[in-house]
Amino acid sequence: MANVGYVGLGIMGGPMARHLATASHSVVVYNRTTAKAEEWVKAHGGSFALTPREVAEQSDVVFMCVGNDDDVRSVVYGADGVLAGMSKGKTLVDHTTAAATLARELSVACAEKGVGFVDAPVSGGQAGAENGQLTIMCGSDDVAAYERIEPIVDAYAKRCKQLGNAGSGQLAKMVNQICIAGIAQGLSEALNFAKRAGLNPDDVVDVISKGAAQSWQMENRSKTMVRDEFEFGFAVEWMRKDLGMCFDEAKRNGAQLPMTEMVDKFYEEVVAMGGRRWDTSSLIARFTKK
Ligand code: NAP
Repeated sequence: MANVGYVGLGIMGGPMARHLATASHSVVVYNRTTAKAEEWVKAHGGSFALTPREVAEQSDVVFMCVGNDDDVRSVVYGADGVLAGMSKGKTLVDHTTAAATLARELSVACAEKGVGFVDAPVSGGQAGAENGQLTIMCGSDDVAAYERIEPIVDAYAKRCKQLGNAGSGQLAKMVNQICIAGIAQGLSEALNFAKRAGLNPDDVVDVISKGAAQSWQMENRSKTMVRDEFEFGFAVEWMRKDLGMCFDEAKRNGAQLPMTEMVDKFYEEVVAMGGRRWDTSSLIARFTKK
């Protein structure tokens, strides 16, 4: 069992850290809002630290899952940052969905201290984190670092794979988000069409989900979409952050993303309707709530 640290006990990070504790690792946590860290320790054991640096000093492997690139930089760098507490032989794993360029930057900064770095964004949502069924997409310049963390993240992984050098995990997550954008819009149009055609959408889904139209979104979101329920899940504002990174990366690699650009505009409309924190399946609200 390892001495592990976890920085960022949000919707995703809190349950992931819990799975590490359940797997009998010794866990020290940090959260910007300290009350959340106190509550986590009360519920799951382990201990909490007052800075990311202290977490790193007490851990062989540090995991983090914060919001965006700026948040990652603010917990990694500086006198109280994770990196200040890391030393040769330790490993840093970033579960945040962030830019591939940031992952490469962190990899270099870690390598200068003899620290292994793995970018490891996840898919599977809050339910995947709660149930320990996340898909983890990894990139690393350091094969040994990946091999060290693979058995540890097994505590909350359904599937974990190294896809290439540092940044490859983040690039794979972008591929994932491009797929989801199209699927969520297609499902929204289909369910709205079903309603307007006078069909019972739940009955239609019951049949077509056994055929070629089946998807995770259909299995997990169609019922709530039909009922206009969006106050849960993966927030539209996070999706727009992720799609913004896809567009930046596409400028570099020349990939065309016409459908993804259109869906991003639709998400912008959902935000204007008050849906910043709604689940990404709320694309259907453009048809039903207007
Ligand atoms: P969340 O519930 O908002 O949690 C964010 C966590 O990061 C909180 O612990 C927050 O601390 C901390 N944090 C944010 N900014 C910080 C800063 N500048 N300094 C220190 N701590 C900071 O978010 P989440 O839903 O867990 O998402 C986290 C990451 O996972 C995001 O990159 C998201 O895109 C990705 N993701 C989310 C889902 C999902 O379904 N939610 C699925 C896949 C991937 P406080 O408690 O103090 O605010």
